[in-house]
Amino acid sequence: MTADAATYDLVVVGAGPAGLAAAGVAARAGLRVAVLDSGARVGGQYFRALPDGFRAARPWALHHGFSRFVRLRDGLDGADVLLNHRVWAAGPAPGGGFAVHCLAGREERAGTVTGARLLIATGAHDRVLPFPGWDLPGVMTAGGAQALLKGNLVVAGRRVVVAGTGPFLLPVATSLAAAGAKVAGVFEAGGRFALAPRALTRPGKAAEALAYGWGLARHRVPYKGGRAVVAAHGDGELTHVTVARVDAEWRPYRGGHETVECDVLAVGYGFTPQLDLAAQLGCAIGADAAGGPAVRVDRHMRTGVPGVYAAGETTGVGGADLAELEGLIAGRAVVADALGVPAGTGVGARPEPGTGFGPGIRSEARVGARLEARRRRLTGFARALLRAYPVKDGWTSWLRDDTLICRCEEVPYGRVKEARDLGAADARSIKLLARPGMGWCQGRICGEAVARLAGEEPGPPRRPVAQPVRLGDLAAMDERTSDDDS
Ligand SMILES: Cc1cc2nc3c(=O)[nH]c(=O)nc-3n(C[C@H](O)[C@H](O)[C@H](O)COP(=O)(O)OP(=O)(O)OC[C@H]3O[C@@H](n4cnc5c(N)ncnc54)[C@H](O)[C@@H]3O)c2cc1C
Repeated sequence: MTADAATYDLVVVGAGPAGLAAAGVAARAGLRVAVLDSGARVGGQYFRALPDGFRAARPWALHHGFSRFVRLRDGLDGADVLLNHRVWAAGPAPGGGFAVHCLAGREERAGTVTGARLLIATGAHDRVLPFPGWDLPGVMTAGGAQALLKGNLVVAGRRVVVAGTGPFLLPVATSLAAAGAKVAGVFEAGGRFALAPRALTRPGKAAEALAYGWGLARHRVPYKGGRAVVAAHGDGELTHVTVARVDAEWRPYRGGHETVECDVLAVGYGFTPQLDLAAQLGCAIGADAAGGPAVRVDRHMRTGVPGVYAAGETTGVGGADLAELEGLIAGRAVVADALGVPAGTGVGARPEPGTGFGPGIRSEARVGARLEARRRRLTGFARALLRAYPVKDGWTSWLRDDTLICRCEEVPYGRVKEARDLGAADARSIKLLARPGMGWCQGRICGEAVARLAGEEPGPPRRPVAQPVRLGDLAAMDERTSDDDS
């Protein structure tokens, strides 16, 4: 199936828990649905699966929530699933609805899918903070190490250090240890038990935390709070890291340093929602509980742009359960809007049995109310999580003048400081003077650090394209648009 010239009632970008749930609800209600994803398999990050050959023997191996995944995947019910489709732009289509521009397959064939409605379920990416040596081979994001393992059966290293902040460090460390890596330590820059008070009120989460605790203990992995990896070292590749004891603002205490040998450092400071498409479409972007950017939606997951919906991590980082639930709510709203009935009644879009909302509930309105109540609960927990693991300003004290801030353009911290001394008072001016964010990744990796160094809260992306695209494809799109206009 290619992406050319089809028109759908709903186009979903992103086949993670949010996108799959929404697409399934809409398809089962009889809408024509297309689901686009840049990956080779459906599932997104949480449901990332091994390639087919590996899965044949033990399909659930290293897979989180396998039965839930199967239910979502098999519930797509006639939707067109367009894998290996990288969406680089979305906007109003000349004849109404939305045009979603993508590059398909290895040969990157340019194509456009149009739909009356559009759901953005593009998830999040790892938040990265620079520190001396972070550009050495062997230093990778925590999400990257997890993705290598779950999606390719590759254990990132023999001796691994896991560091950063947030509860995601725990599954990463336990999966690596279970897969045979020696995990030399988990270093949490915030407090070790930051979330404990809130987790205790959610028995499911408390059990999950205990399971991780048991996993670490079984593999004798030390888990230390108030510690940060402040430098990575090696001659051409990583050989060891410096771990510092840090205060509440993440400033290292004098003398509180230790050296830990490792060939891989998996480092993660939480996640940042992937907002390029939402920003391109003009959706309002608000602040999540930690001040980071997230798409603003109403309680039915509609953005401020009529016909555009958002679900999952794009509306704020909150984990796979919340993402799936938001997808369900968004799918029901799409169906209601398509049929012209009030959202929340979700005619014909009743969740499947097994979701906990199915056959026992007779009235559609009651289903809607239950879903919304559950979303409020999960969102409350997600907010508490974001507040429990904030990024503290002390990370800037780890930087040296020669620490690269932008790896694509090789901009060291010293040049950012010079730009500030010359009067650049915001991230945009620093970018214009010193060039961080001007390279291949267009600030996806360094943008947040540059904003923080400018003293700003990280804002929505200002990238005109969501993915790298050839100039020829851009020009071809311009020609198509002017043909349509004439
Ligand atoms: C690298 C990484 C690994 C993670 N691993 C775990 C884990 O092991 N356990 C856990 O609990 N949580 C994990 N998370 C957190 C995870 O993001 C959420 O819990 C959950 O998967 C969110 O669901 P979602 O549907 O919002 O987004 P996702 O599951 O992230 O799905 C979004 C999908 O959108 C696609 N996409 C994005 N942009 C485009 C585009 N421009 N064109 C086409 N397709 C696009 C992506 O390929 C992806 O499949 C991970 C996050 C990251 C970033």
